[in-house]
Formats: sequence, C-alpha cells, structure tokens
Amino acid sequence: MRFCSNCGHRLHLAIPPGDDRSRFVCDACGTVHYQNPRVVVGCIPEHERRVLLCRRAIEPRHGLWTLPAGYLENGETLAAGAERETREEAGARIGELAPYLMFNICHISQIYLMFRAGLMDVDFAAGRESLEVKLFTEEEIPWNQIAFRVISETLKTYFHDRRRGSFPFAIGDIGTAAGDGRFIGAIAGLDGGKR
Ligand SMILES: [Zn+2]
Repeated sequence: MRFCSNCGHRLHLAIPPGDDRSRFVCDACGTVHYQNPRVVVGCIPEHERRVLLCRRAIEPRHGLWTLPAGYLENGETLAAGAERETREEAGARIGELAPYLMFNICHISQIYLMFRAGLMDVDFAAGRESLEVKLFTEEEIPWNQIAFRVISETLKTYFHDRRRGSFPFAIGDIGTAAGDGRFIGAIAGLDGGKR
C-alpha cells in the first residue's frame, strides 16, 4: 500500500501509539490503514457419491481443477458466499450446507471455510471463471491436477471421513516450513485427535 485511500497522501510504515506492530499510517489525515486476513468460502457439492469440480479458466493455476470457492463479499453470510461462488463458477445450486473444514493459511493471510453441500440438480454449466465443470467419483479425482493444496487437503479429508461415515468439523493449518515450500497439513478434530 503506497497512498492513502482517504486523502491521497503517501503512506509510511509506523507503529501507532498503543499498538504493537507496524501499520500503514497517513501523516496528512491521521488514518491508520489496517490490513487483516481475507475469508475464502467454498463447498464440496455432492451428488450420488460424486463431487463437483471446476477446471479453472483463470490464473493462477489455469487449467487445473478446484472446488467452487472465492472471497466472501461485504455484508454476505458464509453460507450465502458459498452458494454464490458455486452458482458463479459452476452454474450449480446447492442446499443442506454443513460447515466442515476451516484452514489457516497464515503465510498468505487467508482463512478458508469449506462447507459440505448437496447438489440440488445436475443442471450445471461452466461459469465465466471455469473451462468445464464435472462430477467425479473418488477414483476419478485428478489428484495431480488439483489447483491448490487447500483443495487437495479438503478432498483427501472428505473421502477419508466418508469411509469412516462421519464428517466432524475440523480446523487445519496449511503453510510453508522455513520458506522451503514444504506442506504442513495438520487437521485436528474437536476431540483433538489426528485424522
Ligand atoms: Zn490520508
């Protein structure tokens, strides 16, 4: 961030009085520009033992597969955001949303919330951001063509839970270790148990 969105003056980094970390501060109008994590909301649309994936028509990861997900809008509930993203990217309507997995992705300041959801019908079609949209059985999932780690982790956990017959809510961390890009995926259920 370089310029104040309030008055246009150049910003600098400083620790405001009473704060404990650097913020973008405007000397001209006194505005402190706080930056906080963004919420990404999405779902696993289910239909007769299959899940709906979208092949991305946009960068990053153009041509790879993902679940419907995107940034939550202001004034929108989490469930409404998941429904909207599914409609926009997959032309699909979902119901029976159940909160399922939350991920901290601290190195890019994102929080993911993924619902499980039922597909209302099979009348779906690729939206503007998708090349194609398709239902996959577990055996058909293109594991080496999944766009993001958070998505492959979501799918792995989902199929694991499905074999066990229960889908407990869980929070996981996705990050890089010492900048080497290694995946640290830890999913802890509410009982503290590792899956
Ligand atoms: Zn200003």
